[in-house]
Amino acid sequence: MTKQKPARVRFAPSPTGMTHLGSARTALYNYLLAHQTNGQFILRIEDTDRKRYNPESEIDLISSLKWLGLNWDEGPDIGGPYAPYRQSERKDIYQSYAQKLIDMGYAYPCFCTQNRLNELRKEQQKRKVNPKYDRKCRDIPPLEAAKRVANGESHVIRFKTPLTGSITVHDYLRGDITVNNKQLDDFIIVKSDGLALYHLAAMVDDHLMGITHVFRGEEWLSTFPFHAHIYRAFGWEEPVWIHLSVFLNPTGKGKMSKRFAQQMRLKGNSIFIKDIRKMGYIPEGVINWIVLMGWSFDDKTEFFTLNDLVNNFSIDKLNPSPAAIDFKKLDYFDGLHIRALSKSELAKRLKPFYLKAGYSIDDSVLDKVIPLIQVRLHTLNEAPEISGFFFADHVNPNPNDLIGKHLTIDESIIAAHESYKLLSDLTEFSPSSLEQPLRQLAEKLGLKAGQLFGILRVAITGQKVSPPLLESMEIIGKETVLNRITIAIDLLKSIEGQPNQS
Ligand code: GLU
Repeated sequence: MTKQKPARVRFAPSPTGMTHLGSARTALYNYLLAHQTNGQFILRIEDTDRKRYNPESEIDLISSLKWLGLNWDEGPDIGGPYAPYRQSERKDIYQSYAQKLIDMGYAYPCFCTQNRLNELRKEQQKRKVNPKYDRKCRDIPPLEAAKRVANGESHVIRFKTPLTGSITVHDYLRGDITVNNKQLDDFIIVKSDGLALYHLAAMVDDHLMGITHVFRGEEWLSTFPFHAHIYRAFGWEEPVWIHLSVFLNPTGKGKMSKRFAQQMRLKGNSIFIKDIRKMGYIPEGVINWIVLMGWSFDDKTEFFTLNDLVNNFSIDKLNPSPAAIDFKKLDYFDGLHIRALSKSELAKRLKPFYLKAGYSIDDSVLDKVIPLIQVRLHTLNEAPEISGFFFADHVNPNPNDLIGKHLTIDESIIAAHESYKLLSDLTEFSPSSLEQPLRQLAEKLGLKAGQLFGILRVAITGQKVSPPLLESMEIIGKETVLNRITIAIDLLKSIEGQPNQS
């Protein structure tokens, strides 16, 4: 690890919707930089847009971050030396900084009514020019403006963007970006209700909270010059600005939109952390998946734990090109991390999923099942699906699935029956004691081992695909195996006379 100055970084979401992987990735990069530099990771809630603020979304945010293991050092719930960490509680701070800008000649109250602004916009649209404030109030003498404010006249506060020259801002991933000031608006920093907008609030907070690196979405690039203007008006040292790449939808064509996300959700794929968690992905897999959407270590290493990432993450290897979301990779990484869990940890995590699926769990059985399924799982949710039969009182095979491949119902009944006889005579019930006798039986019946095992698999597990059969039989035990074969024979008899549908 290189010795770097401790970074103070913040994740500053506006809780307006469910936490998605974009926010999780931003939080993750913040967390990694803070941890690898022995710095601090701050959670700041940007809730000044009271109309869009949604308290449930804040609860979802906190639980998603905690589930991912991205704990913060300072935040609204735990406090810290720069509290409050919720913007709605910092209104007075922003107002005092807005006033400072007015006093320094960098901002002015604007008394234009919404009506006037609407007319102005319409007229500009007609002329096909970019809608911009015409700066009518910019030249009101400060004393007069102050008087009108004191008289309670409704107003917003606008930044006095220079009319000439240009501003060069520096994004860590993209380098210098120069914009003509002429193109910029006199943007609003405080609304008529006295609440500061992001352009002012976030800058004031980042400065006061000693933020050294700002990770935020690429969508903020267009207003980046505003933010630099604010910093420079105050003469503050700017943080390192890092604008993260956007996500493309899984087709790779087009940005990931809210609408697309909802459509995907209906098809069973979700970008929302809450859904991903419910689907049985584990945080380790999700972290590994999202960290690589915009960052790489080299072109071959792909397995990372959070700890590995703290050691290996580097902002120099962030990639500004858009990242397409690939759900197959999520399955892949989640599978890798499920395999990396200890057996007892996996058992602990699987239990709620079995319970949710309606199974009651015998711990000693679960301990034996884990080694059979661990290598097969991509999500915890798959476990009850592929191994619920170990915990079920009965299995319900589809009778037609009990018909052996290329066999008639009668032949299948005979095979099941002969297996029953053979198994009931066995005193030992382990894969090694089961294998030879069953293979010999298949031969005696003129069947391929696969045909016989197929019938037994469906009879015993209720499924056409299952964990290894003989190992499964050992865990289930002789008595239950024999019961299930008896039921299978009855089921086969019940469809005798019907056309063979195997
Ligand atoms: N509240 C802003 C958002 O949710 C934060 C942007 C930033 O990190 O500066 O997009």
